[in-house]
Amino acid sequence: MGNRQRFGLQADTLESVLEHFETRYFRGTRYRYLPKYRGPLDRGAVLFGADEHPVCGYPKIPRALMLDPGVPEQFDGPFVVEEKLNGYNVRVAHLGGKVVAFTRSGIACPFSTHLVKRRLDLDSLFEARPNLAVCGEVIGPENPYTAYDYPDVESAAFRAFDLRDRRTSDPVPVDRRRELLDAHGLPQTRSFGTFAPDETDAIASIVDELDAQGREGIVMKSVDGRTQLKYTTGASTESDLTHAFSLPFEYGRSFVFQRLLREAFRAVEHDADTTERAHAVGEAILDPLVETIENVDDGQAVGQKHTVRAPPRIVTELLSHLRDQGLTIDLLADETSAGERVVTFRKRMRSTEDKTKAYLDGQPVDY
Ligand code: ATP
Ligand code: MG
Repeated sequence: MGNRQRFGLQADTLESVLEHFETRYFRGTRYRYLPKYRGPLDRGAVLFGADEHPVCGYPKIPRALMLDPGVPEQFDGPFVVEEKLNGYNVRVAHLGGKVVAFTRSGIACPFSTHLVKRRLDLDSLFEARPNLAVCGEVIGPENPYTAYDYPDVESAAFRAFDLRDRRTSDPVPVDRRRELLDAHGLPQTRSFGTFAPDETDAIASIVDELDAQGREGIVMKSVDGRTQLKYTTGASTESDLTHAFSLPFEYGRSFVFQRLLREAFRAVEHDADTTERAHAVGEAILDPLVETIENVDDGQAVGQKHTVRAPPRIVTELLSHLRDQGLTIDLLADETSAGERVVTFRKRMRSTEDKTKAYLDGQPVDY
């Protein structure tokens, strides 16, 4: 594929979107990436190295608020239901002889790159299919971005959920993708099987089961992999709200509004006991908010705590990677265990800290 057709775009379209790319370096290699949605490209699109190897962004997945009729509206044939895992999105690609892992916005991440290279045997897949990007979620504790634990996952772990042509974003059909990933020994998200659009009751039971386990939800995918639809559990809304309200000035109002909508539509569709739901949602909002204000009142710093475990040079690289992005990082613990450095740090959340302090000191609000 010639450079002029990168991402499958015409030269003039490409030219106008390239203006919005930003430049960074990864281990001495220059790359450009698209941090926000612009024109026809997905957020996180990358042009890597002097040869500008393209890696498309991971497409946004639309959400159903109603399973029925949301599912039959979106699919007119069979689709696969997979578990939606709660972690962070990573695309792994083989670019000019190097394996690199990019996070959602297109930033090459030293921690994720180390993790996938260390834990996965990617060589055989990239040898056979050099233009594929392995898309997946990094889940579990001991990762620098998210804090959601799975009972069977002890440290950061990668689970693939997609294989796409990195130049065009064309997906490998779901069955073929599951086969290929299995054949190359790459772990992937759990599949609940193939369903027809009118089987929303069966899908609702899967969601109930996941909800009872406090898990996030499902992603439905047409068998060709081109159409996706997500639906998440009430448990996931609650944990999102708890998280957002523990850092109340970091998340936009729309974050909260969207989650309340999910709960309202769920209550209507599933005829839920709204008194019970109202109680749970109210607690998920008010409890973390009060706790954060009390913590600030006690003089504590506000932020998100993470622990990472990796070889010392990777941890050093990760910490400067995070600081380069403008984050304030407080080191809370720093140990060595079996040759690895285990660091606990807090990403400071200044808006929440400063505004909460000001209001505690009596500053009036003007709304
Ligand atoms: P966006 O709305 O842009 O997709 P988001 O972070 O708000 O971003 P989520 O609500 O987390 O999106 O849902 C989409 C994300 O779910 C995907 O980008 C991917 O990282 C994650 N995911 C987890 N499991 C799966 C799966 N089985 N199939 C597809 N995506 C999955
Ligand atoms: Mg997510």
